[in-house]
Amino acid sequence: MKKLNCKLLVIGAGPGGYAAAIRAGQLGVDTIIVDKQPPGGTCLNVGCIPSKAFIHVANDFERARHFSNNSVIGIKAENPSIDLAKTVEWKNGIVKRLNQGVSGLLKKAKVQHITGIANIIDGKTVQVDSDGTVQTISAEYILLATGSVPIELPFLPFGDNVISSTGALDLTDVPKEFVVVGGGYIGLELGIAFAKMGSKVTIVEAANQVLPQYDAELVKPIMAKMASLAMNVHLNTKAKGMSGDRKKLLVEKPDGQEEAIFADRVLVTVGRKPNTYGYGLEGLMLDMDGPFVQIDDRCKTSMRGVYAIGDVTGEPMLAHRAISQGEMTAEIIAGKSRAWDKQVIPAICFTDPEIVTAGLSPDEAKQAGHEIVTNVFPFMANGRAMTMEAEEGFVRIVARKDNHLVLGIQAVGAGVAELSASFALAIEMGACLEDIAGTIHAHPTQSEALQEAAMRTLGHALHI
Ligand code: FAD
Ligand code: NAD
Repeated sequence: MKKLNCKLLVIGAGPGGYAAAIRAGQLGVDTIIVDKQPPGGTCLNVGCIPSKAFIHVANDFERARHFSNNSVIGIKAENPSIDLAKTVEWKNGIVKRLNQGVSGLLKKAKVQHITGIANIIDGKTVQVDSDGTVQTISAEYILLATGSVPIELPFLPFGDNVISSTGALDLTDVPKEFVVVGGGYIGLELGIAFAKMGSKVTIVEAANQVLPQYDAELVKPIMAKMASLAMNVHLNTKAKGMSGDRKKLLVEKPDGQEEAIFADRVLVTVGRKPNTYGYGLEGLMLDMDGPFVQIDDRCKTSMRGVYAIGDVTGEPMLAHRAISQGEMTAEIIAGKSRAWDKQVIPAICFTDPEIVTAGLSPDEAKQAGHEIVTNVFPFMANGRAMTMEAEEGFVRIVARKDNHLVLGIQAVGAGVAELSASFALAIEMGACLEDIAGTIHAHPTQSEALQEAAMRTLGHALHI
């Protein structure tokens, strides 16, 4: 059996693991990274990137249909159609290019990349099985970056026409009746995309609101868009299983009545769980935080020399959190003094319209004991939004009443994802309302709504 030694062994080459390995390599740390799949993890292979490729195609197709339907802006197109098999081929091409890009970056940083299944023997030793060839790797430090997997409902197991997001992103035909169990991030991003591509979409959500992690004001424009796409939304409704002929999803309505919903495909997106079983992790007897691996502010686990980052360590399960933890942990292992001191992890839901949140909502700020001032600026009053036929939504700011320190910024609207950087930067830099109001925002841009929201909260908006 081949034996290898290194200073740092990273298990999992998702955004967390590969970012850590690249940074460690840059800092001269002798690093090996192992993954059973092409590098990039869930995010690049079956998550963020493929889903955003689908969403882009769905948006363009919707626009093409808009042009074939007497569009007010004067463009006319005839009978657009979509070839989903070609879409999937294009999406796979992007994924492949990014896989190669990550491989190249690892190589440039002098990181050894091994494709295979890692099995943890102890806190310093891991065996890697690459298609039957087993190598033993001894490492001074092990970094767990093994990510998460979709939650499977026992009464609705994946298989046949019951699919996870991975299956949905490989469909080569647009389903006629597409039922989504779970109206969270994935359910709404993909549900809206399939509705735009022509599916009759039904969302089955157990809570009393879709996207229950966001406040109702932010979700309202998404509900309106879903209604315009003729999507059915069942709230307070629980999925029970498939009918005997597997053609219908059986659900329990809030009044206790059972209903059957026709379904060519049922996408189950009821959350993801950390990947902690089946590769020897349990043998380390690490302290856990519920289902997640417990870490401190340096991403150290309860065992000396073993670190953990990304989805395996808890919420929010977002790629940019994993990347940031990975970069920090690599620097710590290389001997630098670092600790997790982030003020904010922005989140974006790529629905139509998009939602961005950074920091505290008004309710969260009040619950945290702050006396606040808050206001919104609607895109309806923003010139750029009008020229883009994108007047739905608003930017909202939450600040402390006493010193105007910005505690949170949220937005809902077309294309607001790209505003997330300025929201996060403002909070990370400790901006107060006057800083944002006093910064010249270029005209005409949607970003002016941020400046105007700050001005309005100070009592002197210009354009409303
Ligand atoms: P992962 O990306 O899950 O990577 C873990 C890696 O570890 C995998 O490649 C796996 O093969 C490997 N691995 C596990 N065990 C072993 C083992 N024993 N041996 C070898 N290899 C192993 N987040 C966002 O921020 N923005 C988005 O827009 C977004 N969209 C998403 C859309 C979908 C459909 C999904 C499913 C997720 C999305 N996410 C998004 C979440 C994002 O993908 C995750 O937060 C992110 O991938 C977590 O990174 P990670 O490095 O912790 O783990
Ligand atoms: P989620 O937690 O966002 O949503 C799950 C939804 O399912 C919730 O609304 C929940 O109330 C509902 N639910 C749970 N059990 C149910 C049941 N039995 N019947 C009906 N509804 C039920 O989870 P997800 O959409 O699977 O996404 C997983 C994670 O992936 C997210 O939490 C997020 O961290 C990440 N993600 C992020 C993005 C992004 O950043 N844009 C996109 C996709 C996924």
